[in-house]
Order: sequence, then structure tokens, then C-alpha cells
Amino acid sequence: MPRDARAHLAAGRVERETQAATALVVQRTLRAPIGCTGIGLHSGARISLRLLPGAPDSGIIFRRTDLAGGPVEIPARFDHVVDTRLNTTIGLPGQPEAVVGTVEHMMAALAGLGVDNAVVELDGAEVPAMDGSAAPFVFLIECAGTVAQDAPRQVIEVLRAVRVEEGNGFVALLPGSGQGISGPGMAIEAEIDFAAAAVRRQSRALRLTPASFKSELAPARTFGFAEEVEALRAAGLARGGSLKNAIVVSGSRVLNEGGLRFADEFVRHKMLDQVGDLALAGFALNARVVGRRPGHRLNNRVLHALFADASAWRVVPAGMGAAAGVSVRAGAGGLPAAAAAPA
Ligand SMILES: [Zn+2]
Repeated sequence: MPRDARAHLAAGRVERETQAATALVVQRTLRAPIGCTGIGLHSGARISLRLLPGAPDSGIIFRRTDLAGGPVEIPARFDHVVDTRLNTTIGLPGQPEAVVGTVEHMMAALAGLGVDNAVVELDGAEVPAMDGSAAPFVFLIECAGTVAQDAPRQVIEVLRAVRVEEGNGFVALLPGSGQGISGPGMAIEAEIDFAAAAVRRQSRALRLTPASFKSELAPARTFGFAEEVEALRAAGLARGGSLKNAIVVSGSRVLNEGGLRFADEFVRHKMLDQVGDLALAGFALNARVVGRRPGHRLNNRVLHALFADASAWRVVPAGMGAAAGVSVRAGAGGLPAAAAAPA
């Protein structure tokens, strides 16, 4: 091959690579509305859910259609979390009726598949439990399909380590997740440790992509302990819980007829919860997430800690590495008000 032809081809390759590196990743929403019905894990109520396309820069919004005063919209953001007791509940300040519980598995499915904007419409106070995992929501989103929108996707890049602790558990957000096929993203390392012999200590690490989320985390179900069921019900929780929507453990035994979907389904579910809880940042996180005994409360606290430190994060266009990142903190559409305010 003549030298100038080779040089020409090489130049073309460099150009294509440069284009790929600088191409803006755009936001996505659902192609069409889709719905389902199911039972609320904690309320036990039958609830209808509809997933609707959302406008660019609107983020994920939960809409209650059953309240006396008319529809109420609650932004799916960390600063709207009002309860982290066994689930993540969001609400509006000063409006005790305006709450939606158990948002985390739906949030995980939307974030895991890269849906930036959507409305989740409900005629009750809780997202239906379905089978206790995010797989039914992944199925819904894939049935509806997704479309690109005319707006660049932005992500939150973690610049400095932020860590919160409670008892012998912690969650930390660290800079750097490695370079993936579509730019930096989120990597999760989690460890759990339960007394029950069926669970014990489990740990797992995962680089989050739509494919890895769908196959490794989405099918992992929530779990509970047979010994705690009565106390939970007395506290008004787990009223809709059954072997159809949760793994139930008693000592060394899993009571569900079909057993587990993964040998380490428990830690995978905790990672799924983290994907959903951390999606309440408002944008995807470019970060390493490290957790020991992570839970909804720690997941929410670490976001508050991150946004309280203005030097710990910045907003960059998706698909760009740290070196190429352009800080667009000011005027970032969809950014939580509390996050945009100076710390
Ligand atoms: Zn969960």
C-alpha cells in the first residue's frame, strides 16, 4: 500500500475516533406509554401504574392521580426523599398525602436502561412490587421502547471521595470508574453480612451498563426474614409481601419454592437498590460506589453529603472523560435545586 494512502487511512481513523470521543450523548425517553397493575409491597393495595414519555430536561417525575385535590407531581430527587425505612419514599414538603413509596426498583430500571425523562403515573401511594425485582419494569420499558431526544445528556462526575457511615456499614462515592465503551459511568462494589445462614457474607463488583444491569442486577429480588414478618406487619409494612414478590429467608432456608435466581441474589439486590437510590441524584453518576451493608438511608445520606460539598462533584456532558469534561454546573437543566445552590 502506498505510503500516502496508508497515511490517509490513518488520518481517517484518527478523525473517526475524535468524533466518537466528542460526540454528545443525547437524552432518551420512552417511545410510547405503557402500563401494568400490581400489589404494593408495604401497603398491600392494588395499584395501576403507567409509564409515559417525559420532556427533555424534565428528569423522572412520579405523578399521583388518586388524590382529592387533583394530580400531584413529585420529582424523583434525593432532596424529596421523606422515608428510607425498608424502602425509599419520596414526597412534597408540607403535603403528607403527596408521597410515593418503593420508588427504587422503578428508578433502577429507568436509570439502568438509560431513560433520562419519564413520568411514572400511579393511582396509589406506592409503586407496585411486581415480583420484587426490577425485571418487570425492564420488560415494560423494553416493550415501550426508547427514543433519542434533542438535548444533550449530562452526568455528575464525582471529583472527591465522599463517605457516610452508620454502625458497621458505609457507602462511599469515589472518583474514577474506568473508561467504558460509552465513556465513564458507574462501578459498584458492595458487601453485605447477615446473621441468617442462607445469606451470610456476600460481595460483588459490577461496572454498570444497560447490558450488565439487565442481566446481573435487574432480576435480583428483595428479601426479608420470616422471623420479622409479624413485626413488619404490625408496623404497617410488608402488608402486600408474599413469596410471590420477595425472597423469604428462615435461618439457612429460602422458603420460596423455586429457590434463588442467583447464588448471591441478596447482594445483587442491594446493588440494584443502590442503582435506584443513587439515580435520585437527578443525573447519572460517574463514580465508583463502594458500600458495606448499604441501605436506603445510607444511599440517600451519601447524596446529601456529595451535594453539600461543591468541590466534590461537577456536571459534565455524558460520554466525556475527566480530561475532556467541560464544567456546566451553572444553568444545568434538571439539576436539583439543593445541589445547584452553593454549599
Ligand atoms: Zn429493593
